[in-house]
Amino acid sequence: MSSQFGPEYVRALAPYQGGKPISEVAREFGLEESGIVKLASNENPLGMPASARAAMVAAMADIGRYPDANGFALKAAITAKYRVPSDWITLGNGSNDILELAAHALVQPGQSVIYSQYSFAVYALAAQAVGARALVVPTVDFGHDLDAMAAAITGDTKLIYIANPNNPTGTFVGAAAIERFLLRVPAHVVVVLDEAYNEYLPAEVQYESIGWVEHFPNLLVSRTLSKAYGLAGLRIGFGIAQPGITDLLNRIRQPFNVNSMAQAAAIAALNDTAFLQKSAAVNADGYRQLTAAFDAMTLEYVPSFGNFILVRVGSDDDAGARVNLALLKQGVIVRPVGNYGLPKWLRVSIGLPQENAAFIAALQHALA
Ligand SMILES: *Cc1c(COP(=O)(O)O)cnc(C)c1O
Repeated sequence: MSSQFGPEYVRALAPYQGGKPISEVAREFGLEESGIVKLASNENPLGMPASARAAMVAAMADIGRYPDANGFALKAAITAKYRVPSDWITLGNGSNDILELAAHALVQPGQSVIYSQYSFAVYALAAQAVGARALVVPTVDFGHDLDAMAAAITGDTKLIYIANPNNPTGTFVGAAAIERFLLRVPAHVVVVLDEAYNEYLPAEVQYESIGWVEHFPNLLVSRTLSKAYGLAGLRIGFGIAQPGITDLLNRIRQPFNVNSMAQAAAIAALNDTAFLQKSAAVNADGYRQLTAAFDAMTLEYVPSFGNFILVRVGSDDDAGARVNLALLKQGVIVRPVGNYGLPKWLRVSIGLPQENAAFIAALQHALA
């Protein structure tokens, strides 16, 4: 579709492709919705925590009123949990909002934004939507090459996006490498450290990214409640940075960008450590289940630190699309990643044991 309106860089945007909704696959393939397994959007297979559901029901009584535009109670919960001042916090309509606010607040058309090959598709979209020049740095073993990313910085670079763990590859960069990188980045370049999958990291590799915000005024850490906290449909995430960045993001965000139900649910979920532990345990079990099956089928996969796995399903460039279609016909939705430049691969989210088993059976059938 061509348009005569708007700047060229907006007309050239290719919209984000999400996971196919269950209802759409049921319609397209003549299947019962109840029999469909969706492992396509890295959602929490446990759904939302009961604590968040109760908080939402209570918040519903007041839905005729606008939300708290400053999110006072939610910021207080974040302050308590992460020991950061409330003027370091930006609430977002999903962390996607934070990623976009950063581009809008910090980058002018023609200036450059750096991100890695095979990193989250939203970085390319956010950069292009503001007319930025994207400097895409090749990966090493599907992961961020931080030395090459630091070397790619030019005089007009304003923003660098890093996903840790990364989506769709699941790779992870350790604390020492990130810290070395932050020390190398010039003070006028903002680094967005997108930690959407942080809560899945095993204790032995966890690090104190929010502590770095104290030392680096050019660091913005982004977190979401869409993944381990099970609230993807509500759209709630947050950014943590010193006021020099946070002030700017708060100036350009919509006044009521986070709705009242999301604020209430997020407070409950952030305090629900039992749910978080269960989510991580289910994920670790599912990871073992899926990788054991891939090993048995001699399928190559990228070791993952998230709640999903990138698996190579063939050796030709149609393999991902072909196997994806064969899975859809069997009522299993995963994510093709041809648009990431990975046409031989599929990304599968880790589900409940029976969902993982259904995916494995369908995959065996598709590859037979
Ligand atoms: C899922 C994801 C997000 C978060 O999405 P929201 O639902 O908008 O919070 C952010 N970054 C990465 C790398 C993701 O995979």
